[in-house]
Amino acid sequence: MNTRTVLDVTRGRPTSDGGGVRLTRVVSPEQGLDPFLLLDEFDSSEASDYLAGFPAHPHRGFETVTYMLDGHMLHEDHLGHRGDLKPGGVQWMTAGRGIIHSEMPQQVEGRMRGFQLWLNLPAARKMAPAAYRDLDPAEIPALALPGARVRVVAGRLAADGGAAPVAGPVGGGATEPLYLDVALEAGAQLQLPTPAGHRVLAYVFEGAVRLGGRALGKGELAVLGDGDALELAAQASPARVLVLGARPLREPVVHYGPFVMNTVEEIHQAIRDYQSGHLTAAG
Ligand code: FE
Repeated sequence: MNTRTVLDVTRGRPTSDGGGVRLTRVVSPEQGLDPFLLLDEFDSSEASDYLAGFPAHPHRGFETVTYMLDGHMLHEDHLGHRGDLKPGGVQWMTAGRGIIHSEMPQQVEGRMRGFQLWLNLPAARKMAPAAYRDLDPAEIPALALPGARVRVVAGRLAADGGAAPVAGPVGGGATEPLYLDVALEAGAQLQLPTPAGHRVLAYVFEGAVRLGGRALGKGELAVLGDGDALELAAQASPARVLVLGARPLREPVVHYGPFVMNTVEEIHQAIRDYQSGHLTAAG
């Protein structure tokens, strides 16, 4: 067992996006955490922080994964998909060649909390047709371990003792993503297998933990070194950690607003396609 150590600890920065939604940018494209491009956390009980939502906007070249913890949003896209995002639910959207969508709050008060991740696509998949999965909370399996409960949104997680691994509803693809919501009881310890060679990030969003020998508090992101496992322990109170893993693509990344491609020319093409109404379809 080669346990991952912590290479770097960062804190998100406050920003706003969409129509003016206040959020914390935990991962930015500039950090170069291939294949993770961006991770936003939104968490507010002030309606004015989220009511503006994310009106219609385009994407090309990557995947967006929205994980709702509290609140209710409605997703609609140009293909006619409509999806309700409720607490514990996930929307996994593969923009591919292009999608135009909106994500709007369906509440005027109360807490709105969750995450949006941008996961890059390989060059060969950037212009694939858009695809989209709306996952109900019940479709996301949970693995019960001593002192811990792990929801598996993507990838597979093996329990101790040789039981069959739990597979999340999303799997495979070029980046083979692992997306785990790990809830730990106070003092609980956990070892999670992670494929060697994959990029792994851990973000503490409740409580405090020790990870790879380092103390991490709420709001801190650990960038982990390579290894085939990570060791997590909650401190004196319960803790909750988002654990993300994926195979790096090792391709050039050119990011401009809602488009993430491999070359500047492909970005110019995306802008031209969007302006001429051809983002989402050939011709
Ligand atoms: Fe979007």
